[in-house]
Amino acid sequence: MSVLPLHSELPINETWDLNLLYADINDWENDFNSLESLVTEFNSYRGKLAQSPEVLAEAFQKSDKLYRHAEKIYCYAHLKADENTADSKNRARLGMIESKFAEISGSTSWFEPEFMSINEQTITYFLNSEKLAFYRKSIEELLRERAHVLSEKEERLLGLGSDAMNSAGKIFSTLNNADLTFPEINDEDKHKTELTHGNYIRFMESGNRTVRKRAFTTMFDTYKKYRNTMAATLDGTVKRHVFNAKIRNFPSALEASLFSDNIPVSVYNNLIGAVHDKLPHLHHYLKIRQKALKIRKMDMFDIYNPLVPNYRKEVNFEQAAEWVKAALLPLGNEYQSILEKAFNDRWIDIRECKGKRSGAYSSGCYDSVPYILLNYNNTLNDVFTLAHELGHSMHSYYSNHAQDYHYANYSIFVAEVASTTNEILLHEYLMKQNSDSDWQTYLLCHLADGIRGTIYRQTMFAEFEKHIHELGEKSVTLTADQLCQDYYKLNQKYFGTVINADRRIEMEWARIPHFYYNFYVYKYATGMSAAIRLSQNILEQGNDGLQPYLGFLRAGDSKDVLDIMKDAGVDLTTPEPIHAALDKFAETVCELETKL
Ligand SMILES: [Zn+2]
Repeated sequence: MSVLPLHSELPINETWDLNLLYADINDWENDFNSLESLVTEFNSYRGKLAQSPEVLAEAFQKSDKLYRHAEKIYCYAHLKADENTADSKNRARLGMIESKFAEISGSTSWFEPEFMSINEQTITYFLNSEKLAFYRKSIEELLRERAHVLSEKEERLLGLGSDAMNSAGKIFSTLNNADLTFPEINDEDKHKTELTHGNYIRFMESGNRTVRKRAFTTMFDTYKKYRNTMAATLDGTVKRHVFNAKIRNFPSALEASLFSDNIPVSVYNNLIGAVHDKLPHLHHYLKIRQKALKIRKMDMFDIYNPLVPNYRKEVNFEQAAEWVKAALLPLGNEYQSILEKAFNDRWIDIRECKGKRSGAYSSGCYDSVPYILLNYNNTLNDVFTLAHELGHSMHSYYSNHAQDYHYANYSIFVAEVASTTNEILLHEYLMKQNSDSDWQTYLLCHLADGIRGTIYRQTMFAEFEKHIHELGEKSVTLTADQLCQDYYKLNQKYFGTVINADRRIEMEWARIPHFYYNFYVYKYATGMSAAIRLSQNILEQGNDGLQPYLGFLRAGDSKDVLDIMKDAGVDLTTPEPIHAALDKFAETVCELETKL
């Protein structure tokens, strides 16, 4: 077994350049120590917000100055800590800024309630003041929220109870992550291996059906033993969402959750309806899998294994960078020149090393370059990860350069759009590079599975989430029997008659942490649908498709998210982009069929 190098032993050009943020640790410490004076500066506005438009504008500026500064300090500490998670000095610095952050948000929490208490007449005057023109969007957002804020006394009680209200979710994650263990199973080589959350998906991708089945049955038989506890934690969480919606005067938990992004419920329902329309495409794909895998009747554990199991292509990082740059040529010269910077100015920490955080991400702050952490391992999938993370980073770069700090941070609702657009552009480029049948099959499968997993599967989750909250609103207690029965039925609806689903799948609801996130997953599905539409516009319409897309990258949080998407060329209030994305899925599947 080869021993991983330390981060400090890696060739310098394969690491990110955090000196762009702080030349040395003394600079970081000096900045950290200067935070307190910014807090004092901002807090001196306490009790004065209603005085005049000038004063309120200044308070916004001081708040931005404080948080912008704190984010820079945090950013460096968290990136540095991820280089080697075992380094205690780095961990300590991260801990320092994390507790400082908590302290700051506590001592500055007066701002919102004080703003909310400004009387209607003064607010109307403020809204029309030129002095506050720049902050109008933020003020309008606060006013929108005001309709759902309770009295000071009530808010205080809710604040005091919030930790206790979160218990159900906390119990779930403690049970699921810490206490729940799975038995050992035999892997492909008949070695006994303990089943974990981490290796489950690797077993699902095994070319050996017996191994897949064994992992599947072991996983869900284990969950079954805890079915009543799992139902109780989910029930508790749904009840909390329903309670919050009720006391804050929202018609439903769904509406309460969509409120912060200002998304109408129709967008959510529209997604579910549009996906239902296109379920036959999913069934077609499953039939093709069944034929290619030579299985008489597909089961739930025959969905994740690759159709070209032995396909391995080594791609070194230099090659990956060339491919990604070439694939993103349709995004124009300016985009290319910024991409060059990403590689030449060392935005990317490329290699795996001892103690480095696993996975991949893009992260930064307003005053840093948008850094990328990778664990690049020369696979074709890693090339897609590189394109994906560059999509996030380029989105941040454009927004940070076009917007003031106050409006630079784009919403989670659109967070996966730019990254997915890049993946699709990479797919289209790579398809043209090589006519080898295994290569093409791999790529088509990769895209089809991506759409299946992101649009179909997440929408199924979104539908289940909506259903269990509706039950909660009717005061139905969610029992394991009810959850299993309803989940199984929904699973049948999505997978149709092509799949002869092992009854154990009825327990799947128990292992999805997202059901505790309060209507989060639908954003994956709308985000990918938007990305497919945008990449088609860019490739088919040239500059007419490109300019609105660059407008989206620059928009940050300066407008309503649905308006940002509409200006970019995607109207998520209609089924059109969802239908178009799933027609792209159908097209991909048909092309795949010709290769098999
Ligand atoms: Zn992402």
